[in-house]
Amino acid sequence: MYKTIIIGAGAAGLFAGANLNSDTLILESTGKIGQKILISGGGMCNLTNTENTDMFLTRFGDKKRANFLKPSLLNLGTKRTIEWFESIGLETVIRDDGKVFPVSLKAQTVVNTLQRAITEKNFLIKYNSKVIKIEKKQGHFIIKSERETYSSQNVILTTGGKSFPQTGSDGSGYALAQNLGHKIVPLKPALTRVLIDNYPFKSLAGNSVRNSMVEFFRSGENKRYMVGNGDLLFTHQGVSGPVILDNSRFIENRDLLCITLVPCNNKELKREELINLQIVLSRKY
Ligand SMILES: Cc1cc2nc3c(=O)[nH]c(=O)nc-3n(C[C@H](O)[C@H](O)[C@H](O)COP(=O)(O)OP(=O)(O)OC[C@H]3O[C@@H](n4cnc5c(N)ncnc54)[C@H](O)[C@@H]3O)c2cc1C
Repeated sequence: MYKTIIIGAGAAGLFAGANLNSDTLILESTGKIGQKILISGGGMCNLTNTENTDMFLTRFGDKKRANFLKPSLLNLGTKRTIEWFESIGLETVIRDDGKVFPVSLKAQTVVNTLQRAITEKNFLIKYNSKVIKIEKKQGHFIIKSERETYSSQNVILTTGGKSFPQTGSDGSGYALAQNLGHKIVPLKPALTRVLIDNYPFKSLAGNSVRNSMVEFFRSGENKRYMVGNGDLLFTHQGVSGPVILDNSRFIENRDLLCITLVPCNNKELKREELINLQIVLSRKY
């Protein structure tokens, strides 16, 4: 029997493995570890940032979400995260915007460093071992993969979410957790582009608007429920860019988006600015 079995060798599973000290086995469903880390931060892996925990928590949306994350972030703040990575041999660099990356600017270095930390402890990573069932029996866990059965005193379930299933996170972990009695909140996409029905702006794909103001309305309502500011990108099937990605978790099917096509923070001021510009130009020519 193992002391601990970690299910899933992604960011969380590798981090857990690198922090444990006794008799641990890691089961990974695919043939590779850390596949999502490799595509993170544009292939460079934005590890953390230099913001303090209070400010960092405001980035996660409403208070309920922030409160959920608070204990974790209070336990391991951004400064200690950087120190921890440095302690296992990963040199980091802080960009002017406060984002922290590996000095190599390669996500692969992060995966290699985590893997080395795990190998140094002589922990085994078993590839192509998709876990299909976890049961709790007489104070320990029975873990069934597609081919083998294991037992352990503790289980760490780090199977990721449901986005980018090609990286291994296919959502199968939710059923495993549910089977153990955990409640799963309904899943919703976040940090995603938006696809638009009968999209008329395909020819604009690839063009962006700097600091666009985007107002969000629920279908049939006149009062906007949210307003965002930031760069906006037209794609072949809809819109993307920071202002969409950052607010996408609040968007529902059939919402209406009202987009300004000039840099704008306040529509009224912008209107005055444009009228004044028109007057100046008409005087000039
Ligand atoms: C395009 C993109 C860019 C991103 N950029 C950043 C960034 O710059 N900075 C940042 O902090 N975050 C970034 N993220 C988010 C970050 O990658 C994720 O938050 C992180 O990878 C989640 O880690 P995880 O361990 O929970 O899940 P994952 O990394 O998805 O790992 C889950 C692992 O579990 C395995 N698994 C799944 N089911 C089973 C099963 N039944 N049995 C065994 N194994 C299983 C999977 O194969 C996978 O290896 C980005 C995400 C994306 C998609």
